[in-house]
Amino acid sequence: MTTLPRKDLFDLPEGMTYLDGNSLGPLPKALPARLDAMVRDEWGAHLIKGWNACAWMDQPARVGNRVGALIGAPDGTVTMGDTLSVKVYQALSAAVQMRPDRKVILSDNGNFPSDLYMAQGLIQQLGQGHELRLVDPEDVAGAITDEVAAVMITQVDYRSGRMHDMNAVTAAAHEAGAVMIWDLAHSAGAVPVDVAACGCEFAVGCTYKYLNGGPGAPAFIYVDPAIVGDIKPALSGWLGHDAPFAFDLDYRPGMGIERMRVGTPPVMQLTALEAALDAWDGVSMADLRAASMRLTDVFIEQVEARCPELTLASPRDAHQRGSQVSFAHEEGYAVMQALIARDVIGDFRAPNLIRFGFTPLYIDEGDVIAAVDVLADVLNNRLWDAPEYKTRSRVT
Ligand SMILES: *Cc1c(COP(=O)(O)O)cnc(C)c1O
Repeated sequence: MTTLPRKDLFDLPEGMTYLDGNSLGPLPKALPARLDAMVRDEWGAHLIKGWNACAWMDQPARVGNRVGALIGAPDGTVTMGDTLSVKVYQALSAAVQMRPDRKVILSDNGNFPSDLYMAQGLIQQLGQGHELRLVDPEDVAGAITDEVAAVMITQVDYRSGRMHDMNAVTAAAHEAGAVMIWDLAHSAGAVPVDVAACGCEFAVGCTYKYLNGGPGAPAFIYVDPAIVGDIKPALSGWLGHDAPFAFDLDYRPGMGIERMRVGTPPVMQLTALEAALDAWDGVSMADLRAASMRLTDVFIEQVEARCPELTLASPRDAHQRGSQVSFAHEEGYAVMQALIARDVIGDFRAPNLIRFGFTPLYIDEGDVIAAVDVLADVLNNRLWDAPEYKTRSRVT
């Protein structure tokens, strides 16, 4: 069994404490050489022949199986491509189609806005009187009535780290006859997930957060193999066709999960992701979860002891949260900027949260203590109270 952390697999800048792997994972050391080889020896040398010679066309399925292994999805049930927002749209349009007599899409007000925006766009496009109904996260299970066509929930809240019980919510959805869609953006590579055991119809997520695929890395979609054959894809691109190179004039969905492909796969990004996924070989998700709970517990305990101005904005019970911790502070933006200037990297989420991700692949308890040392200095000496920390950038 592999021990954690595995810092030697990552190219982390000297002197930096990186607590933002929940937003963008760091560079795996093996990635640049793999990408360089793909660009020069595959694309450069083979040109168009690379599609066959280098099996580029099979990448979405091949990489999908490796991501699937991290979320409890059997081989052949996950495919890769596009961004998460697009995969949310695909899952949701398919789910709504499965329940034509129901008009409610249920989500919670802790969901990431893009998921909600995609639902709003789909509803408008359908023009069939669907409604996006938002409830407080703790009220989701109770709000699943027989009006609900689809329940679309992000398991781990991007701001607070509060975590839904996938089995319980999925069971409630099925009890009421609704289709279940899980967004695993902050779960895949962060907490143990078993999509097959929970029985959800759809799961989607991204790979640039805990899976370290790099900025713009492709998203994944899982569909329960028992229902995938009945789905009529809304985004009916040629590579989801049963025979793309027959160039038929009419769309006919491909076999199984292949139909959730849309267009040409992002070969360079998938190559990068494939290299990044090697860091997971031999890692037990149970060990990772235990390490993550320990790191977040130590962080909370240390911050509360040394930074009394901060208010915990995440669940106190480690079983109730994912792999991130947030604290509220009126001047959160400036506090985070002051931290970043001192090489402790987290991020800020409006209106007042400073957020820290804990990634046991490359973060250990020493990093947690080092980060709290800097945070305590910034707060207790009001180092954040300087004009240069108060001008907002486009990405926070
Ligand atoms: C990160 C995240 C996204 C981002 O979507 P992209 O299309 O990849 O930009 C969407 N939804 C959730 C829940 C996220 O956490």
